[in-house]
Amino acid sequence: MAGLVPAIHDLSRCEKKNVDVRDKRGHDMERLALRNYSGFMTAPALAKKKVTSGAARPALLLAWYDRHRRKLPWRPPAGEWADPYRVWLSEIMLQQTGVKTVGPYFEKFLARWPGVDALGRASLDDVLRMWAGLGYYSRARNLHACAVAVLRDHGGIFPDTEEGLRSLPGIGPYTAAAIAAIAFGRRTMPVDGNIERVVSRLFAVEVSLPQAKPLIQQLAATLLGASENNSRAGDEESRAGDSAQALMDLGSSICTPKKPACALCPLNDDCVARLRGEQESYPRKAPKKSGALRRGAAFVVTRGDQLLVRSRPEKGLLGGMTEVPGSDWLAAQDDQSALQQAPALKGVARWHRKAGVITHVFTHFPLELAVYIASVPARARAPEGMRWVPVATLGDEALPNVMRKVIAHGLGK
Ligand code: SF4
Repeated sequence: MAGLVPAIHDLSRCEKKNVDVRDKRGHDMERLALRNYSGFMTAPALAKKKVTSGAARPALLLAWYDRHRRKLPWRPPAGEWADPYRVWLSEIMLQQTGVKTVGPYFEKFLARWPGVDALGRASLDDVLRMWAGLGYYSRARNLHACAVAVLRDHGGIFPDTEEGLRSLPGIGPYTAAAIAAIAFGRRTMPVDGNIERVVSRLFAVEVSLPQAKPLIQQLAATLLGASENNSRAGDEESRAGDSAQALMDLGSSICTPKKPACALCPLNDDCVARLRGEQESYPRKAPKKSGALRRGAAFVVTRGDQLLVRSRPEKGLLGGMTEVPGSDWLAAQDDQSALQQAPALKGVARWHRKAGVITHVFTHFPLELAVYIASVPARARAPEGMRWVPVATLGDEALPNVMRKVIAHGLGK
């Protein structure tokens, strides 16, 4: 340890110079963060370090955002208030899905249902169909339930507080904070994965995720602009939503998981992870426990130019989505027991197994499906709970990605 000094003490000393201009809450949060530094920094690194006042970070961040904000379909031009409907729709779609994928879906939804009232009057089937391909289908169900609740209980107008928003289906703490800040200027900081990464690096948070979430939330709040009265109805200077979006943009374009572009970062002067040269090691993460591989069989049955399908149960994984008949998906399943769960169809003497398997990774487990095919005569009836649909109109069905792969494989030559 020769030549090393505890970073925490020197950093504290440097930053004390700026205590008089720091807001009290921000200062407390920083102290909390400093207590979590467990590493050390070399003396030369500290000597070179130019420490920016923590109080300056919100302004630096907003200045950077004003120059570099991303143009996104749900974002209004600078200085205009965001539409709560667009913010909500985009935030639900962006959960577990990237901006590039979400863009066209967002535009499609907006063209079909321009406001929450229109969406609240749509059928769940239509919403699921429009959502097909975006994955994590419980979001679509909640989206619809939320629109119905806003229409029925709030006259088609979103509540403008975090508490009110959280009472709606499918709106958790993050989404409520995002809508409250971005659409209503409430002084709150939503913390998504991008913001977690920026904050954990900036303050070198040593606690692993997910345990670090409350601490990161508190530290992220120190990056909000200084205005206390910033609701939409009040202070026009409100920039809580811009602070949040600035951090989101920074995490997505500069403070990336690999090779962050620190030279372009407005907060690089006092980013502890950067000073240590350990950017990519934050956020700290507990080792992953991945689910066991599950196996099953899928049965692609054609009757002329029609395909046999059914709807999955309303509750659970891929709830209500369309699928071809299949077996259970189990870790200890062999081919024979999966094949025994084939649908009972007159005219099918034997199933032909297609070469290879379809693989798909769900959040909690990877899946491997063997695909069996068969054709039945024109008059064959669909077993109970199943139906025939023309292959040409499969695009109108709420097909999850895994089933698209299965059908393409089963119908392929
Ligand atoms: S300096 Fe680098 S690691 Fe630190 S917040 Fe900026 S981009 Fe991220």
